[in-house]
Amino acid sequence: MLGIILLGPPGAGKGTQAKKIAAQFSIPQISTGDMLREAVKQGTEMGRQAKSFMDQGGLVPDEVVIGIVKDRLQAPDCAKGFILDGFPRTIPQAEALDRVTKELNKEIRVVLSLEVDEKELMERLCGRRTCTGCGAMYHVKFNPPKAAGKCDKCGTALIQRDDDKEETIRTRLVNYKKMTEPLLRYYQGSGKIRSVRATGDIDAIYAGIAKILQ
Ligand code: ADP
Ligand code: AMP
Repeated sequence: MLGIILLGPPGAGKGTQAKKIAAQFSIPQISTGDMLREAVKQGTEMGRQAKSFMDQGGLVPDEVVIGIVKDRLQAPDCAKGFILDGFPRTIPQAEALDRVTKELNKEIRVVLSLEVDEKELMERLCGRRTCTGCGAMYHVKFNPPKAAGKCDKCGTALIQRDDDKEETIRTRLVNYKKMTEPLLRYYQGSGKIRSVRATGDIDAIYAGIAKILQ
């Protein structure tokens, strides 16, 4: 069972690296951010509630995200493993994950902590572009598509996320420090945490991650 948690601030490259891990190890990327954005798009009741928190750069209430992850982990494609991207984000979420994995007879093998200097995060998030078709991630400067505004993989238009605005990013980074950074301490005692310096070439960072996972 290859259960992986990707920890790190917004913009650390969790989604970028999760997609590479998912492709190589044939395990699903479970991004609570993606699932919440999908619920917003579908206009579900949960999506409507989550939207106000997301638009302001806040965190969606614990019980909502815990419920989403618990359901998702029971899907058949999580039998061999899974990559949690953006969850847990608070201590109560981490405690709930401990309970849920036990209950479902699953195991977290490794917690990868992606480390990037704070000043780089703002530039990464301001320039982030996402494909609405296949979810591929780009950056206008650091990882540009071959044709401006168009996905290399599927040709769909790239968009800028609503919450990737300077003001909202600032709030998200403050919330990360306050609510999520304490998780590093939480996992320190487990012996499962591995730090990954996550600046520089995306493929070189992935090579380091793959080595840890093998
Ligand atoms: P997260 O999921 O942690 O919020 P993303 O994977 O979406 O982060 O990456 C944030 C932005 O930074 C994206 O635009 C992505 O293309 C870019 N990015 C990811 N890794 C790197 C890197 N090593 N160097 C420069 N930019 C990167
Ligand atoms: P992300 O795509 O991971 O950057 O998440 C986008 C937004 O979704 C966050 O700013 C939060 O509002 C919300 N979100 C995603 N994951 C969580 C989580 N584990 N707990 C609370 N809110 C979350």
